[in-house]
Amino acid sequence: MRLVPAAVPRPAAPAAPRRLGAVELVPGRVRAAVLSVAGRVLDRAEASYDAAGATPADIDAALAGAAGVFAGHDLQGIGVAAAGLVDPGAGLILEVNDVPALHGYPVTERLGALTGAGVRVEHRARLQVLGDRWFGAGRGRRTFASVSTGEVLGVGVLYDGEVMAPPGGRSGAHMTVSASGERCTCGARGCWKTVATTGWLRARARAAGLPAVGLDALVGSGDPLAGQVVDEYAHNLALGLVNVQQLFAPGLFILHGEAREGGERFRTVVEERLREAVAFTEAEQPRVLVGTAAVDDVALLGGAGLVLSHL
Ligand SMILES: [Zn+2]
Repeated sequence: MRLVPAAVPRPAAPAAPRRLGAVELVPGRVRAAVLSVAGRVLDRAEASYDAAGATPADIDAALAGAAGVFAGHDLQGIGVAAAGLVDPGAGLILEVNDVPALHGYPVTERLGALTGAGVRVEHRARLQVLGDRWFGAGRGRRTFASVSTGEVLGVGVLYDGEVMAPPGGRSGAHMTVSASGERCTCGARGCWKTVATTGWLRARARAAGLPAVGLDALVGSGDPLAGQVVDEYAHNLALGLVNVQQLFAPGLFILHGEAREGGERFRTVVEERLREAVAFTEAEQPRVLVGTAAVDDVALLGGAGLVLSHL
């Protein structure tokens, strides 16, 4: 962090450094954090609720509980990273699977009333690209992609300085990558999610008769069969990313979540697959980096990035 020398008089500057507020709202849980403008988490709080049985009043209570962390901080604003379908313009959560109380929930209005701060909301997977853009490996770039891996799969794309977030657009998990694949939770067949999330990896490792089923353990086992399963997983992840590269040529892909456990080999397999997909040599050769932010902080950094993006 760069420090301004205390002796230099800056009469126009505020007395205290202003902070960034971030909230992550997912089924069953609300997390809130106060961050410095450099993206350091200074304080955090969490509240839980019963996803299936909660009423909107229960959501209000959980939000108020977590938002207690903002008391006494001079916030530039609060960015909310929400699961499900959101309407950023109206500040609403439209729909979250298995959480009826969040259907049409006015999250920016409620949080604004609780804190007095300006509040914005965006979809969690899209938003994390702003965490990378302001605080991570995407700094200085106007176009790149940020990828959630593991239980939750999704891609956020920054294109020429703007987060691609068209109304009705999604984060990529339900792109069709196989014409006759497995049935997905959404009802369709062959979604990217059916072959490139933790559930697929566990099932594949079990079907192969491997004792270990987590990515970390498979990579560490040294078993050649486990290695094959890991490579297959990396190829499946690359399937969706190749489509993103073909359409938007982000050039840089920053992987968050489970991919960290895959180590250098996993990263290399994904990167090589992307490079094969670049048709002409004049284009930027795609690079894959693994994000260094703590997994729990990725969405919060995205929320803080949303605040900075709208100053
Ligand atoms: Zn699907």
